[in-house]
Amino acid sequence: EQERLTDAIRRARGELEALRASLHAKADPAKAAIFAAHAELLDDPDFLEIANSAIAKGKSAAFAWKKATELHADRLAALRNELLAQRANDVRDVGQRVLLHLTGVTPLPPQYPVRSVLIAEDLTPSDAATIEAGTVVGFATVRGCATSHVAILARSLGIPAVAGIEPRALEVSNGTPVILDGAKGSLRLSPPAAEVEVIVERKARLKAQRDDDVAHALEPAGTKCGGKHIMVFANIDGLKQAQQVGSLGGEGVGLLRTEFLFMDRSTAPTEDEQTQCYAAILKSVGPEHPVVIRTLDVGGDKPLPYLPIPREDNPFLGERGIRVGLDRPEVLRTQLRAILRASSAGKVAVMFPMIAIVQELRDAKAILLEESNSLGIEPIPCGIMVEVPSVPLMMHSFAYEADFFSIGTNDLTQYTLAMDRGHPKFAPTVDALNPAVLRLIAQTINGAHAQNRAVGICGGVAGDPQAVPILVGLDIDELSVSLPAIPTVKAQIRRLSLTSCRELAQRALNCWTVEEVRALEPEYGD
Ligand code: PEP
Ligand code: MG
Repeated sequence: EQERLTDAIRRARGELEALRASLHAKADPAKAAIFAAHAELLDDPDFLEIANSAIAKGKSAAFAWKKATELHADRLAALRNELLAQRANDVRDVGQRVLLHLTGVTPLPPQYPVRSVLIAEDLTPSDAATIEAGTVVGFATVRGCATSHVAILARSLGIPAVAGIEPRALEVSNGTPVILDGAKGSLRLSPPAAEVEVIVERKARLKAQRDDDVAHALEPAGTKCGGKHIMVFANIDGLKQAQQVGSLGGEGVGLLRTEFLFMDRSTAPTEDEQTQCYAAILKSVGPEHPVVIRTLDVGGDKPLPYLPIPREDNPFLGERGIRVGLDRPEVLRTQLRAILRASSAGKVAVMFPMIAIVQELRDAKAILLEESNSLGIEPIPCGIMVEVPSVPLMMHSFAYEADFFSIGTNDLTQYTLAMDRGHPKFAPTVDALNPAVLRLIAQTINGAHAQNRAVGICGGVAGDPQAVPILVGLDIDELSVSLPAIPTVKAQIRRLSLTSCRELAQRALNCWTVEEVRALEPEYGD
């Protein structure tokens, strides 16, 4: 039985490796990383130990493996750490893959009717990978969340996925008409025909608008009547996304999250590996478009197995972002050397995450300078993320020390309101349009402009249609958004007048609550 288990694991590992390699060849690092992580789970000694000891007690390989999978998944699901809890789903998925080899069952891929919404307890990445684009038009799951692997796969299929629906939705019979609203996060059962008609019309209107926005994506985003040109950049996490920046109208990359290169592997990428990757991204974005590479931003909610951070009571207030880089300068140095070596391939700038005090920036800049001197490569522009309220409050010093600023409103909001950005209870309140956050954004922009430094926003609010007119009115220079949002944000800016945006922004700054800000109506011209 032990041999049968070893053989089944070996075959499952082979399948996962093939899946990973084919996704890697399609330049889809996010999905490839998921299956690489699955292969690593098969080497987890805890997991194997449980199965082997059951076999030693006389159980069959299949029984022992199934028990081990359930036990391991349940343990993970019970943890308070959200990331590890999500891993439970991956354990179940890998477990199922091995079990199929042990039982010799070849499952038929499920057949979904065209235009179906898939309602499930949870979906494994393998389930989602079998779905053909065009058949399933949305996922609704009882478990999972916006950052789970299933959500990543849904985004790559371009369909809505709503997690956290009520368990009784599992009893809905096949063929029931439903409305899945990805924006509201809701699932409506058996809606009346009139409501379906309204939704169908709305979808058609949105699609026509979207097609029009995409058709004009390459036009610049200037406000009306010769107002101000706002740069619209892309937030990307790899080569595949870099290849789409230009065609969607992105005028550069405002945030390259480099974590993707470091995640889901057992050792850090080498300097050469990183150099090649950054150079390929710079080349594909093009020499005329700036690319801002953010140094590794781990810690907090993003652990790395080979960069262990001791357990902390408050990981979001502990070793995170630049603090990890300064504590382990060899990791930061290697990355900075790779960025410098790739710099001849395009127009690159480096950006440090989670800067809270001026000394951190000075220390990081000193390492950058040392490395550019030792390589004999010209220094590159060096900016910071504005994610901690101390930075806007101290712009009179930071504006001299950094070459540019990019406001990370996802973190700035959580640190301003002292509410965890991933906390399910606070999700509706952790809103970057809170007047407190808007005041910090205004302070950053004014402080930076006083020293002729440009300011962008790369947090999620930059792509929020309600926020765009206010941010334009606050005099933002650049908005960096997800790829699909680029044409929409550009089209919206072209319909705005700078004067009315400025009035709107002043009203927003004077609001007392986020609800008041969200109730403000911007003016659009014809
Ligand atoms: C942010 O904090 O707004 C940001 C863009 O960084 P991340 O979401 O990667 O923490
Ligand atoms: Mg951040």
